[in-house]
Amino acid sequence: MADYIREKMLRAVQKPGRYIGGEPDIIKKDLSKVKLRFAFCFPDTYEIGMSHLGIKILYHTMNSIPEVWCERCFAPWFDMKQQLELYSRRLTTLESGDPLCKFDLVGFTLQYELSYTNILYMLDIGGIPVLSAERGEGDPIVVAGGPCACNPEPLADFIDLFILGDGEEVNNELCRYMISAKEKGLSREETLRGAASIPGIYLPSLYNVEYNPDGTIKRLQPADGAPMPVKKRNVSSLDEAPFPESFVVPLIEVVHDRATVEVLRGCIRGCRFCQAGFIYRPFRARKASTVNRIASDLCANGGFSEISLTSLSTSDHPELGEMLDDLLTWTADRKVNLSLPSLRIDNFSQELIDKTTRVKKSGLTFAPEAGTQRLRDVINKNITEEEIISGCRTAFSSGYTAVKLYFMMGLPTERDEDIVGIAELAQKIVDLYYSLPEKPKGKSVSVNISVACFIPKPFTPFQFVAQDTEEEFRRKQKLLISSVRSRKISVSYHSSDTSYIEAVLARGDRRLGRAILSAYRDGAVFDSWDEGFSYERWLKAFEAAGIDPAFYACREREETEINPWDHLDYGIDKRFLAAEYGRAKAALTTEPCNKKCSGCGIAAYIGRPCFDN
Ligand code: SF4
Repeated sequence: MADYIREKMLRAVQKPGRYIGGEPDIIKKDLSKVKLRFAFCFPDTYEIGMSHLGIKILYHTMNSIPEVWCERCFAPWFDMKQQLELYSRRLTTLESGDPLCKFDLVGFTLQYELSYTNILYMLDIGGIPVLSAERGEGDPIVVAGGPCACNPEPLADFIDLFILGDGEEVNNELCRYMISAKEKGLSREETLRGAASIPGIYLPSLYNVEYNPDGTIKRLQPADGAPMPVKKRNVSSLDEAPFPESFVVPLIEVVHDRATVEVLRGCIRGCRFCQAGFIYRPFRARKASTVNRIASDLCANGGFSEISLTSLSTSDHPELGEMLDDLLTWTADRKVNLSLPSLRIDNFSQELIDKTTRVKKSGLTFAPEAGTQRLRDVINKNITEEEIISGCRTAFSSGYTAVKLYFMMGLPTERDEDIVGIAELAQKIVDLYYSLPEKPKGKSVSVNISVACFIPKPFTPFQFVAQDTEEEFRRKQKLLISSVRSRKISVSYHSSDTSYIEAVLARGDRRLGRAILSAYRDGAVFDSWDEGFSYERWLKAFEAAGIDPAFYACREREETEINPWDHLDYGIDKRFLAAEYGRAKAALTTEPCNKKCSGCGIAAYIGRPCFDN
């Protein structure tokens, strides 16, 4: 009977491959030998989650413990949601097909703020009380990690434990701890409190928050000797960190179907808007020889035709040339393409083009981020217009006819001339193309500019900044469109509505839990998709919760104000962030870490200098 209904449900939805499981290289275990079950949940579709490297690494790492079985679960799309409701079924994992409520630990990765309502959705249809306070002895413990865990407060009502920083070691420590807690027969409360003593674990219910009459935080106090601050975890050597030899091979097309190797963690650059550039510090590199071995294993085991060398800035790898040479000894013969998704335009060279396009020429994407030199200095992008033009010249001379350029609008100190500067820079690139005698014959150029709305994020020098209002974003978007003079330039920009909600959630405190719950109860799921997002629903949810969203998004914060994330220690000194913001306002740049340490605090945190020089 059960199988018959499942069959009916699968026949009623688009892309049933999202829900079937049984892919090559999935891990199954004998339940009689398993002591702890972990459901790793990605709060978005199968296609997005299966493209994410973190889930692949942690799936492999946790399953390396014989008594632990880590399984995968993704958010069911609207059509499957309907089917689950129709047949009163629960959300299950792909490996065993068991509902989430049967697991010991249910873990979410927090990659973007607009996935928060999907966490409530997955808990709810997985048979787990959405509110942490309503979970009892038989319920799973709900954990969450990933970049958005650096300000976990808006999710404090829903998540029992947060994992701060790199997950490779702490996840396994938590699993081992949970096995011993089960064996000792500890209560839920005792188990949670014990877990809070593992470095890198944050138990929000142990911290009390008091507010000032103006709504800012007055005090945040730990109870019962809970750690203060709570420190993030750090993998000391990326080269020795565990990495899978094979990935689960998806049965349907996913966003990125390729062998992905993380070649760097952290970044030397210090772009002032970039949260990842700060929270993943210090800069760590995987050796060229290790990257080569991992890539070869992944391609041999998974049959991939593309290797992606990922990081925040892959061309900053200290052994980039050697790494590409090693890979090219076998990739060209096996018709495997190399892709380097995060290239900086200032160290983009003919040699790099030759090495990465030997098999297939893919599109080129660069991120100048701002249209004028002054504003690029404000954000510490540290690239000049000459470098942008020179990078495009190199690309066009090598046969490229299209470039995609990423920008942001609403950056601190931005003026109208900076917006017009985006269009002018794009025009200079078009003009450059037609001035080159070596341009590809008979082909026209295409310059695509994609402009995001700037969102101030915790643990960056711009964490103090007020986001532009929606009216201002819309005015600037119109100004940009009216400044573009060539049909060779296309412009796309992000919705200011979604960026506003993202900004509220990014720097919010635990009072926002009421609004998230209200939005979910009103039907909010898949907020990062056009199909799911409703701005009006969010505004209604804020109103119902008695929350002014502009308080979180559009208000400049003093350095002395207590932020909701100030009790979490990511190794970055708040005084450094404030000083960097001061330098930004004066359009002063800061040198990359490998040239000069600017004293962000992470070297003291790890107890050694980040670089040998
Ligand atoms: S301590 Fe210095 S070198 Fe290390 S990440 Fe911070 S600024 Fe860069």
